[in-house]
Amino acid sequence: MRKIDKIILHCSASDNPKHDSIDVIRKWHLERGFSDVGYHFFINKNGTIQEGRKISAIGAHCQGHNATSIGICLHGINKFSLAQEQALFNLVDVTLDVYNLTEKNIFCHYQFNSNKTCPNFTIETFKKSFSIWQKQNTIDDNSNKDRNDGTEF
Ligand SMILES: [Zn+2]
Repeated sequence: MRKIDKIILHCSASDNPKHDSIDVIRKWHLERGFSDVGYHFFINKNGTIQEGRKISAIGAHCQGHNATSIGICLHGINKFSLAQEQALFNLVDVTLDVYNLTEKNIFCHYQFNSNKTCPNFTIETFKKSFSIWQKQNTIDDNSNKDRNDGTEF
């Protein structure tokens, strides 16, 4: 398995509902001469996570950083649905766990390419929302544990 030390976030830069599928992005990337879609995951507006390139394969989504990263693309230009946000948080959370990473390993595309604004939200905004989401999830986990071990209040 290749070394993974970055999760890099992208947007599709399209709000066209006809482009809301990894099949469309794959077609574009194949037309550009890529061997497959450049991203590892695509999240469409209804929050479905679609698998792109196999994680074991090096992606084609962020020049100079493809070898050790996982690329996640949200469909949209700068407005994303709540379902997409939730799906992204879940996906990032699981990926951090699997590769033993922390939030320091999460990046937005523009951080590596000053000519880009992709994914059109800042890393600070993402991390702020993600940490709130994580705290809420931890509270939920604990309350489940309490229920499971039969604690009575
Ligand atoms: Zn990008």
